[in-house]
Amino acid sequence: MRFLSGIQPSGNITLGNYIGAVKQFVKLQEHPDFTDFMVFVADLHAITVPQDKQELRKNIRSLVAIYLACGLNPEKVHIFIQSEVHEHAELGWILECNGYIGELERMTQFKDKKEKQVAGVSVGLLTYPSLMAADILLYDTDIVPVGQDQKQHLELTRTLAERFNNKYGETFKVPEPFIAPSGAKIMSLTDPLKKMSKSDPNPKAYISLLDDINIVKKKIKSAVTDSDGKIAFDKENKPGISNLLTILSCCTDNPIEELVLKYKDSNYATFKEDVANAVADELKPIQERYNEIINSSLIDEVLDQGRDYASYLAKKKLAKVYNKVGLGRKR
Ligand code: ATP
Ligand code: MG
Repeated sequence: MRFLSGIQPSGNITLGNYIGAVKQFVKLQEHPDFTDFMVFVADLHAITVPQDKQELRKNIRSLVAIYLACGLNPEKVHIFIQSEVHEHAELGWILECNGYIGELERMTQFKDKKEKQVAGVSVGLLTYPSLMAADILLYDTDIVPVGQDQKQHLELTRTLAERFNNKYGETFKVPEPFIAPSGAKIMSLTDPLKKMSKSDPNPKAYISLLDDINIVKKKIKSAVTDSDGKIAFDKENKPGISNLLTILSCCTDNPIEELVLKYKDSNYATFKEDVANAVADELKPIQERYNEIINSSLIDEVLDQGRDYASYLAKKKLAKVYNKVGLGRKR
């Protein structure tokens, strides 16, 4: 079975991306069912909102180093950069021509991100999900692990694949979503009703995997909670505490119910102290490995191999698609 996922180099990767995505990939790469494991850097997606050129380049490399530092094993995983395999953008265009504006306008991410744009809303922000569909369909992906935030986009990918198959004949494999049972969605530390996002303008809202450990602890300790004083898991009424419980559970591999029992007589300060230490313990070894990798030749070696592998598959698929649609000359 083929597994594929990507992260945008749109900022420093957060604890949310780690818990909801990378940590899961690291576990899943050992799974015997996944004979083919592909993880990419979604740089074409990142430019749907304005990016600084130098920052973008830096973030791309940094994301690859983070993948490796978190434990993705290049012997098992093909890691590549989306823009280095031009078929993503080409298939994205074909899928755009088979999607409807109404479908895209309904996407929650589009609605959320649209609100935040000060210098105009790019067409790319709207058509983002058709590019994401191309990423997935190009490789006949079986399993796409997505956080709650991407579930809607995956549904659209399935719709686009089925529509194309009906119109032009069996071409794409329709992918299955895979949602991690716990920690699938980590919330902002300053507004626990909002998702933690690496592109949040307020750095206090998220923990970057590369934040100084003392800053990590400070951010956890000043996370917005409530004044009720009781540690309980109730996402609706106690979103802040519930978020910290989820984070603690994911960093310590303890079920939430056990943590609730353990902290039932504790105050918020003690609880936050423990969450801060657990996150710090999780991030310290990652940061050490990151510092070893970021200036090494390993990054380019891994990316060259990943690009060649992905291009080989993508080229074959795109030729098939062009033939089905009737583009160019028969090949
Ligand atoms: P951006 O704000 O630029 O969209 P992001 O933090 O949402 O950044 P993405 O690159 O969009 O990150 O998503 C990368 C992966 O991380 C996806 O699999 C997504 O589901 C997951 N993810 C993103 N945010 C969270 C979160 N808060 N909790 C859990 N998983 C998350
Ligand atoms: Mg996102």
